Amino acid sequence: MSGNESRTQAIAQITNAEPVKTSMTAPLKEIWGCDVFSLKQMEESLSKKAHKAMQKTVQTGAPLDEATADAVAAAMKDWAMSKGAKFFSHIFYPMTNATAEKHDGFIVSSADGSSINEFTGGLLIKGEPDGSSFPNGSLRMTNAARGYTAWDPTSPAYIQTTANGATLMIPSVFMSWTGEALDKKIPLLRSNAAMDKAAQKLLGLMGETEIATLNSSCGAEQEYFLIDSNFANSRPDLLLAGRTLFGAAPAKGQEFDDHYFGAIPERVQVYMQAVEDKLYRLGIPAKTHHNEVAPGQFEIAPYYEAANVAADHQQLLMTTFKATAKEHGFTCLFHEKPFAGVNGSGKHVNWSVGNSTQGNLLDPGQTPQENLNFLMFCGAVIRGVHKHGALLRAVIASAANDHRLGANEAPPAILSVYLGSQLEQLFADIKDGKVAATTAGGEMDLGLPQILNFERDPGDRNRTSPFAFTGNRFEFRAVGSSASVSGPLVAMNTMLADSLTWLSTKLEAQLAKGTEKTAAVMAVLKELMEEHGNAVFGGDGYSSEWHKAAVEERGLKNIPTTADALPAFNDAEVVELFESTGVLSPVELASRYEVYAEQYVLSIEVEAKLVAEMATNTIYPAAVSYLSELSSTNAGLSAMGVTLDAGVATEVAGNANDMMVAVAKLSEALEKEDFASTDAHMQFCANEIRSLMDNVRAHADSLEGLVADKYWPLAKYREMLFIK
Ligand code: ADP
Ligand code: MG
Repeated sequence: MSGNESRTQAIAQITNAEPVKTSMTAPLKEIWGCDVFSLKQMEESLSKKAHKAMQKTVQTGAPLDEATADAVAAAMKDWAMSKGAKFFSHIFYPMTNATAEKHDGFIVSSADGSSINEFTGGLLIKGEPDGSSFPNGSLRMTNAARGYTAWDPTSPAYIQTTANGATLMIPSVFMSWTGEALDKKIPLLRSNAAMDKAAQKLLGLMGETEIATLNSSCGAEQEYFLIDSNFANSRPDLLLAGRTLFGAAPAKGQEFDDHYFGAIPERVQVYMQAVEDKLYRLGIPAKTHHNEVAPGQFEIAPYYEAANVAADHQQLLMTTFKATAKEHGFTCLFHEKPFAGVNGSGKHVNWSVGNSTQGNLLDPGQTPQENLNFLMFCGAVIRGVHKHGALLRAVIASAANDHRLGANEAPPAILSVYLGSQLEQLFADIKDGKVAATTAGGEMDLGLPQILNFERDPGDRNRTSPFAFTGNRFEFRAVGSSASVSGPLVAMNTMLADSLTWLSTKLEAQLAKGTEKTAAVMAVLKELMEEHGNAVFGGDGYSSEWHKAAVEERGLKNIPTTADALPAFNDAEVVELFESTGVLSPVELASRYEVYAEQYVLSIEVEAKLVAEMATNTIYPAAVSYLSELSSTNAGLSAMGVTLDAGVATEVAGNANDMMVAVAKLSEALEKEDFASTDAHMQFCANEIRSLMDNVRAHADSLEGLVADKYWPLAKYREMLFIK
């Protein structure tokens, strides 16, 4: 296609498209969880004994015996086949942010050719995909390919329906032949167990006698962009990199603040309803949805669940959003920064820990100063953020998230913790050795009799904090929108486990001295705040004062890029943290560093190659076409004694030439191969390649403002961002 043909065709197709009709959907109680092989579903098909055993495994992680596994497999197969499934698949979560599946038929043909269906406990428990074809960070050599998937009975199996029919999906862990974790689920399960063990110990010391298994919870708020697929398909950068690598700022962006919580465009409403119906069928509790800050940007927040299930559901949610978008002529972008100049997307990971006997341990209640369990757990989080800030930064690091962090739209790349005014004061008092009563939020009274008064929260919100207490949980707000929630959850559970153990040791020593419990707790927390209170910050995290004070006065780290962040995985302290808690062995941890570093380098190199290619093959020719028109027009005009001012042509030619010089430099930099270390390679990408890409883009974006619209080949921001 020449000139702006692909753009104009896309616009025509969008303008003429018939709106996708909303279909009246079935009532919630008819569809809720109907495609899930839940405990309730099992109750109908399993013996009482088998059902009880499964229930115990789901609730406490207790081991399952072979006979029960066989019974569950048989019931699962019958249920799935009654729903039309002919295939089953272990679904697993490799060290990318994606999911992987290997489909197998239920069918096994017998010698006489009549088909039979076989699905035993053995098949349910174990699968065998190729371990070397997934990122493994040297854990697997290509010639040592064996990898196993194994059923995780604590996350329910479900039916996935696609154009290809119905498939029984079985959430699984993924490991090498030697038993190392090759996935994101094994560390999450282990981190939960480590947190449980450490919490049990501390709660016991606190005098609790009945302590049920503790679990971590997660509610992830997901931001995303929707753009019309006609545009997405016309732009190689959106197709291959998930973001625009070129594009001048539109005349109107988000400056009117009119999109956030605005009326949702009808076409998007229809889409949201379709997605949510699918999520409900899968038992994913989609709870709220609204417009986000940028035009074309939206958010969905499912209700929180046990972290392991929430993590699986979060992956399934992203897959469902993408697949459903296609049906509605949209492309759903989870990239952290698809458009320069407007807000990017994040994923707020709300997290807490609790059990059925002590409840939510991060719920302060009405009188937090008397809630000693809460104070210990909250203190443990403060210590964790302070001690392991670099790790928290590393687990949210990606090439894409680097565009957001610290860019005054997302939390800074400095890890601090926000408590709200009431708790900040309380912990400051504990540090000073005086605990007074706390002040609650008080009553909200507008003086308008028709508006009912209500109890205000004890603290305001702080949207500039990367890690904020929000009433009964912490919200890790710096996570990228495309990320799996597993990494952040593993880090949070593990740092909590470590801090709880530290608290137990200190508390034990105090109690041994005969100190009374409350005084002992206060003494331990005083010490904690003296050592780690510097991480608590309630002010404006976006301000330059904080960036200076955090580093110079508080000793916190500002870690701007992934290249700076990932080496934290190799810190002796982090290796020790994961090894002592049994969450990741040193080898497993090292493999993660390698995989994430490789992904970082690869994604920047892919983008850089695309920049060079699009600038050369798409943008430069557009500039030349325009120059050619200007020159022939000018030739014709000069015959009539009229001339055009040379200003525009000079500027176009200047930018086109400079852009190609920048492309040449970028291409040359991409040739470089001899790096002293992986760290050095990452630094080269972060500093050299990125800035060379920016140079090309600057000239290309200037050209977009100069070249006649009829020659401009790429869909423009103003066209893509405002949904018809
Ligand atoms: P907000 O705008 O206050 O951040 P949202 O409703 O958008 O609220 O999202 C809050 C998220 O926090 C939801 O997913 C919610 O279920 C989750 N959440 C609430 N309580 C907990 C908890 N105890 N543990 C984990 N997540 C929680
Ligand atoms: Mg939130």
